[in-house]
Amino acid sequence: MSAVVVVGSANVDFTAEVDRLPRPGETILGRDLLISFGGKGANQAVAAQRAGAEVSFIGKVGGDRHGEQIRKHLEAVGINGSGLISDATCNTGVAFILVEPDGGNQIVVVPGCNYRLTPEELESRDFLLSGAILLLQLETPLETILSALRRGKQKGMRTILNPAPATPLSPEYFPLVDLLTPNETEASTLTGIPVDERIGAEKAGARLLEMGCGDVIITLGAQGCLWVGKDGAQHFPSFSVRAVDSTAAGDAFNGALAAALAEERALEEAIPFANAAGALATMRRGAQESLPDRAGILTLLSP
Ligand code: ADP
Repeated sequence: MSAVVVVGSANVDFTAEVDRLPRPGETILGRDLLISFGGKGANQAVAAQRAGAEVSFIGKVGGDRHGEQIRKHLEAVGINGSGLISDATCNTGVAFILVEPDGGNQIVVVPGCNYRLTPEELESRDFLLSGAILLLQLETPLETILSALRRGKQKGMRTILNPAPATPLSPEYFPLVDLLTPNETEASTLTGIPVDERIGAEKAGARLLEMGCGDVIITLGAQGCLWVGKDGAQHFPSFSVRAVDSTAAGDAFNGALAAALAEERALEEAIPFANAAGALATMRRGAQESLPDRAGILTLLSP
């Protein structure tokens, strides 16, 4: 039994540097190809593992080379990958990323097998749905996420939904979510309330509680985050760091939050732990390669 179970996406990312992004129909040369592991599900699973949790991952890859690489990578990191399904009829999820010198980028994601994970396949991995925390995002089919939330609740798990990327959800999802962790854009997409200042975040959080969520944490980038619960709203400031790339800050935050809650820490303690992980992830380029380990998080928390 793992403390944290992640159901989500896994991708292989191909990143190249370009002098400028290509115009339609144009072919240009890129350099410094970086092949790395991504997908919000796998990123958050790795983030939780590095933050100190025992983690199982449930997801779907193709019968291709990339799928095999993801399987080996998860094992090498120390994640239980027995929930990773291989399906020869679809391709492993991939992302093609072009980055300009000033940081501007263009990204094409080909979700492939990530969008083919079915509720039935999840049921066949039911034996894995038994930890303390179930952590989900929105890069797999919505019906599968709903089914995972239902199964997780039935088994007494605490459910965390990071509703990313921003996607409208029907009302039946929210009462199944113990802890919802949108960023500002996602909170706005789910509620229709503009979230560009503290008051908007408080309103959106209150609305999400009315919709049935147990607690809501809206992440605010360099401003930290706002926890909205039944006792009201509380702001948690970020840690001041030299940020170079915010990719995967949200993934670091969610993985670390799940790890802290699996240790039965209260939210008052788990949120600063997650804020520290998010801050540290901004200090290095890349996604999984920028995720901090437990020692780094604890050092930032109490230097
Ligand atoms: P997402 O990547 O999902 O948009 P955010 O940008 O809100 O998520 O970042 C998630 C968390 O990471 C924030 O709540 C904060 O704790 C931390 N974080 C993000 N950017 C910074 C930054 N520039 N400085 C310090 N902490 C940051």
